[in-house]
Amino acid sequence: MTHILKPTHHLGNNMGEVPYFITLDEAVNIVKQYPLSLMAENISLDDAHGRILATDLASKVDDPAFDNSAMDGFAMRFEDTITPPTTLKITGLSQAGMGVEKSNVEPGCAYRIMTGAPMPNGADSILQIELCEVDEQHQTVTLVEQSKKHFIRKKAENLQKGQVALTKGSLLTPSKIGLCATMGYGEIPVTSKAKVAIISTGDELISPGQELQPGQLYESNSYGLAGLVKWLGHQPMRFNAVSDTINELREALDKAAQNCDVILTSGGVSMGDYDLVRKIMQEEGDLKFWRVKLRPGSPPLFGMWKGTPIFGLPGNPVSSHVVFRMIVAPWFRHSTSATGPIETQVRVKLADKVKSTEDCMTLRRIQIHSTEEGLIGTQPRHQGSGNLESLASADALTLLGPGQIGEVGEWIDALIL
Ligand code: AMP
Ligand code: MG
Repeated sequence: MTHILKPTHHLGNNMGEVPYFITLDEAVNIVKQYPLSLMAENISLDDAHGRILATDLASKVDDPAFDNSAMDGFAMRFEDTITPPTTLKITGLSQAGMGVEKSNVEPGCAYRIMTGAPMPNGADSILQIELCEVDEQHQTVTLVEQSKKHFIRKKAENLQKGQVALTKGSLLTPSKIGLCATMGYGEIPVTSKAKVAIISTGDELISPGQELQPGQLYESNSYGLAGLVKWLGHQPMRFNAVSDTINELREALDKAAQNCDVILTSGGVSMGDYDLVRKIMQEEGDLKFWRVKLRPGSPPLFGMWKGTPIFGLPGNPVSSHVVFRMIVAPWFRHSTSATGPIETQVRVKLADKVKSTEDCMTLRRIQIHSTEEGLIGTQPRHQGSGNLESLASADALTLLGPGQIGEVGEWIDALIL
């Protein structure tokens, strides 16, 4: 059920009927109604790592392009080898990179052959070098076993010309980039990177590397969020932290809206008087929802700032990370049709009690240990949402549904970090 924040709500001010404290599914459904539309660009395979394929990719060739040997050894006619040991005359050589037009393996003969070299005409089987005794003086080879037909890699057994092996939205991992090359592509179309403004807010924040004064803390969210943006294949643009004044915030948001495709803010979305991101969005922005049933990470908002999508993430470092993973990342992936392998869920048996909540999806930081029984989850750290060390040392986040207990011995879903 969606709660609607009425204008009469104590914080309401030009709120209209903005969905308030909604479920995670509701939040994700709302953000997906405002997808980014990004162009495509051609890039070299050298630059493809972590990018998102913009179209389906069909192979330009058969793979392999010709029958070839899976072994170093000899190629011959199978019928010559059925009563081992068999001695055959060595009449030729097939090496990787050679053509085979003129080759012909006659009955009673064999060709030396190397891994990856084309099958010579007339031969239909291979025996690996370890099972061959070569007499160099007489140029003969004696096979101690029957030759093997399955040591031939058949033309097109991996991929046929025209076959679509990578689909639009694939995140280009090393093996997928290699596959692009195998299919004959030196350049590929990828989705252009979204320019993502990252704006931290708070009078107490200073950049790491400076001397910490009383009451200050090092600004960390923008660095973590920039990493998450890159992880999704996009381009972060970190702004300097903005102090808690409405004018400075407005100026930063305007600049971000002019120069970027999407805005991420951190901090200032709770109920307090200095929670100015929430306030400015209520008063001057186009707010689509505020607060989500997510723990940690219940304060976020989403809306439009002068036509640009804006995610107001919580200030607490763990919360901002969790909200990115659970709401912002699905939005990016939806916008680019991006498919894995980015989110991995596993089943984990809890070895420590994990505190859940009645009404929120609860994401606790756990460590995972592989045992004979399966994966075991422990919660060795205190779960304060300001405790970034507990996130950095965790392997996964629990995905405990509202009301799910989180008892010792319970099998639960967890999201790999
Ligand atoms: P806020 O939501 O602005 O009240 O912030 C909640 C908590 O997160 C406060 O303790 C802030 O000091 C802290 N915080 C806010 N922004 C950041 C940031 N960019 N990096 C590290 N901590 C932050
Ligand atoms: Mg603040």
